Amino acid sequence: MTKFIFFTGGVVSSLGKGLSAAALGALLQARGYRVRVRKLDPYLNVDPGTMSPFEHGEVFVTDDGAETDLDLGHYERFTGESARQSDNVTTGRIYSEVLAKERRGDFLGGTVQVIPHVTDAIKNFAIADLKDEDFVLCEIGGTVGDIESLPFLEAIRQLGNQLGPQRSMFIHLTLVPYLAAAGELKTKPTQHSVKELQRVGIQPDMVVCRCERPIPADQRKKISLFCNIESSAVIQALDVDTIYQVPLEYHEHGFDNQVLRHFALPTGDKLDLSRWQNIVKRIREPEGEVNVAIIGKYVGLKDAYKSLAEALVHGGIANRSRVKLNWLESEIFEEEGAVGSLVDVDAILVPGGFGERGAQGKIQAARFAREHQVPYFGICFGMQMAVIEAARSLAGIQGAGSTEFGPCEDPVVGLLTEWQQGNVTQRRRAGGNLGGTMRLGAYPATLAQDSRVAEIYQCHEISERHRHRYEVNINYRELLEAAGLRFSGLSPDGELPEMVELEGHPWFIGVQFHPELKSRPFEPHPLFTSFIAAAIDQSRLV
Ligand code: GLN
Repeated sequence: MTKFIFFTGGVVSSLGKGLSAAALGALLQARGYRVRVRKLDPYLNVDPGTMSPFEHGEVFVTDDGAETDLDLGHYERFTGESARQSDNVTTGRIYSEVLAKERRGDFLGGTVQVIPHVTDAIKNFAIADLKDEDFVLCEIGGTVGDIESLPFLEAIRQLGNQLGPQRSMFIHLTLVPYLAAAGELKTKPTQHSVKELQRVGIQPDMVVCRCERPIPADQRKKISLFCNIESSAVIQALDVDTIYQVPLEYHEHGFDNQVLRHFALPTGDKLDLSRWQNIVKRIREPEGEVNVAIIGKYVGLKDAYKSLAEALVHGGIANRSRVKLNWLESEIFEEEGAVGSLVDVDAILVPGGFGERGAQGKIQAARFAREHQVPYFGICFGMQMAVIEAARSLAGIQGAGSTEFGPCEDPVVGLLTEWQQGNVTQRRRAGGNLGGTMRLGAYPATLAQDSRVAEIYQCHEISERHRHRYEVNINYRELLEAAGLRFSGLSPDGELPEMVELEGHPWFIGVQFHPELKSRPFEPHPLFTSFIAAAIDQSRLV
């Protein structure tokens, strides 16, 4: 029988609940249990797809085409399990379902209310689409005390009651700040936050305390007294230098053992955590260092490119190298001569992006990489910009542009109006709805014989995750290939360019998909492994 562990958070946001759930998932998996990790988000958007990355961070895309919260990226990276649409829900989606039912007449005669209709829909989501999982870890987004979290807390309270303590557990994550002026760690915010949780009828079974200093036993005792739990259920979660240390740290402080004790499961077996130890060792003891410039639009917010940053670290792990990430705002390269400052970097990456602002800067960066033989990796928008640059500079198509920025003379990148998804033909038109209508999720691609990309993947058939509305126009293939930009990866019907590579360049690859979404620390993505290897070669030249 599947057991449910609910994660809530208090005191402040950004405590890393997602990471906590992911790390516990990894520890339970290391004991041979099957786990799924899910996220319930209280905001009103139906999904995060229409939110700015500045607002919400990266949009993580699943194989089945869901645009989800970035925490699902952590879940995948820590457990290796591919997430699905059924692993992330928002208030917006819940209400859309409830209201659609109301319109259909499913509640005919009844008054539709938050309790029970909305809470039932939340509970149904939490238990839906499961097979033989031993544990489902459910993270509730937001902070206890937020008005919009209330229906979610009520739903998990009811679910906990229905399942009973043998099949459910509540874990509350809080902050124990260090007050320099007092020279002390403060437990009061944690006490208040737990009280807030108790007010809605939830008694946590465990309190996980984020802290920058170890919490002494007497302070833990105090938290345990005020919060009604044993002191072994007060777990300290010290800040660590790499997120991949978190499972090791948790285990060290008894997190997983306490969870198993709660469910009366055996704790005796010695746990093999060597996979995590190896990763941490490689991160902490690199043999070299490379400098990668990431030229984007949302570089002010670390979370906007979360999976990308992790995938680059993974590429470093594979090459025993530390990857220094230089986040650069693309607009700065629109100034005459500004790209010259890229002379010191070992590789250039232009990630996914939307809209015209900064696009010219990205085109300049692609040009610099091409002309100076610096490794270049263009992801989605980064590929599109590199293709426009090659069209203008190599193929002599002066008016080359993207219709994303308005009508243009030579739409080398244009709106994707029709494509095949399995047996279904998807159609879009300009001016249609923006939510959930991009080409989303896993699509296959075929890699050309003797291409660089086939050598990197060591195969000719791949599947990667997409999230885009525009595509490189296949009608320009001949002109671009004649100019040296090879279309080395195509959709199986040959209609959609999926990958391009520049001949005669040490490493210049553009991909229409998002390989960073599938990279894992213990299974780095081959494109990132190869890109970092190229950066290492470049660093030896400089
Ligand atoms: N804006 C571009 C498109 O929609 C690229 C999207 C992306 O980089 N994810 O096609």
